[in-house]
Amino acid sequence: MNPRSPGAKDLISLVVPFYNESEVIDAFFREITPVLRNIAHAEYEIVCVNDGSTDSTLDHLLAACAADPRIKVIDLSRNFGKEAAMTAGIDAATGEAVIPFDADLQDPPEAIPAMVEKWREGFDVVLAKRAERQTDTYAKRSSAALFYRVHNAISDIQIPANAGDFRLMSRPAVDALKQLPENRRFMKGLFAWIGFRTTEIEYSRRPRAGGKTKFSGWKLWNFALEGMTSFSTLPLRIWTYIGGATAAFAMLYSAYLILRTLIRGVDIPGYASIITAVLFLGGVQLIGIGVIGEYIGRMYVETKRRPVYIIRKIYQQGDS
Ligand code: UDP
Ligand code: MG
Repeated sequence: MNPRSPGAKDLISLVVPFYNESEVIDAFFREITPVLRNIAHAEYEIVCVNDGSTDSTLDHLLAACAADPRIKVIDLSRNFGKEAAMTAGIDAATGEAVIPFDADLQDPPEAIPAMVEKWREGFDVVLAKRAERQTDTYAKRSSAALFYRVHNAISDIQIPANAGDFRLMSRPAVDALKQLPENRRFMKGLFAWIGFRTTEIEYSRRPRAGGKTKFSGWKLWNFALEGMTSFSTLPLRIWTYIGGATAAFAMLYSAYLILRTLIRGVDIPGYASIITAVLFLGGVQLIGIGVIGEYIGRMYVETKRRPVYIIRKIYQQGDS
């Protein structure tokens, strides 16, 4: 599965986005380096993406980079968001196996050797599934569960629940991922879309090693909408059915009104039913327009074909 000449070492790329993570960087390198170093028959590189941090993250990264030729730093021109930062890192990774990893050490480094083991058994994708997420708040856990349920119910692509971005991908899987042309990158969905032979390992998510989460409730909500509109057109199609049902109901009701008028004559009162119908239909139409707008907005952004991220500079020992 992984053609290697005997004795040759696999190159494993760890891709890590950093956004204002100066508090955790030192702990990060301290924990991750021995783990990567101890993987048998493997070399490694750490691709660090500085996602427009406004604190001293870049300085810390450059110091680490100067001390270790296996650390590469990609400095983006501004904050592009985690999905774009991860894309930048994955694009720059050169390894036979690529592992996206969170800087805050919420993904346990100990899981990496187990993933590599599975990959060597012949799997292209090794998902790390969160066995339990006690370290997340109740609200985050339940909203995440709801998101996976709704998303998987309405889209063709099933995202495994509780699998984050933490996974190992073989080179063919990474090359497939890089072929997907969309600008708005909902990585969990894209990861699932490419397919490949997949297996899972379980791990428990740890608390953040320091600093604060970068995802507020509002950001997560938008992220969830992004996910659902990226991989499903059901929200658009459903309006056909709602419209059809409303029209059918309106037809029946008007038939009833006509009959009633023929039998009982004209009666003026009816303000309540009219205003209810008008308001209800107005509301339904506005929601419909909103959903269509959501997709048109996405099309608008996609048609501009702007790059997903802009690199300010790449740092690696030996480069000038
Ligand atoms: N991150 C990023 N750009 C952003 C937000 C987050 O690169 O705009 C990185 C962040 O530095 C971390 C990872 O994405 O390495 C996960 O972020 P965080 O831990 O805040 O998310 P959570 O674990 O709370 O979902
Ligand atoms: Mg985190």
